[in-house]
Amino acid sequence: MTSVHELSIAQSLLDIVLDEAKAHDVKKVVRVGVRVGAFTNVVPDSLAFCFDLIKAGTVAAEAELKLTPVPLAGLCQDCGAELDMSEPVFSCPHCASSQVQVTQGQELYIDYIETDESQG
Ligand SMILES: [Zn+2]
Repeated sequence: MTSVHELSIAQSLLDIVLDEAKAHDVKKVVRVGVRVGAFTNVVPDSLAFCFDLIKAGTVAAEAELKLTPVPLAGLCQDCGAELDMSEPVFSCPHCASSQVQVTQGQELYIDYIETDESQG
């Protein structure tokens, strides 16, 4: 299901792509790589669908949105253990500290923008 959440994210991603394209005098964007953290609750298919809807008529009209999911991971502030946080973790399984910080999975940013000039 498409939500306002994905639509507004797609719009801000497209804004960044168009700004970059303009700044570098790019005529055609062919691919946009985006890293999407598991913690963002973004549905990748839905985001790609929204992006396809709004890209029409821009230099990114034929751009493919390439989404890279980033799993949740964390770090214990006390013992330094790296934690798999695909399940919610409220205390460190190694030292029982509650000083657990999410270090990965909140990402939502453009990784790269490919233009027709960067091909071949
Ligand atoms: Zn610990």
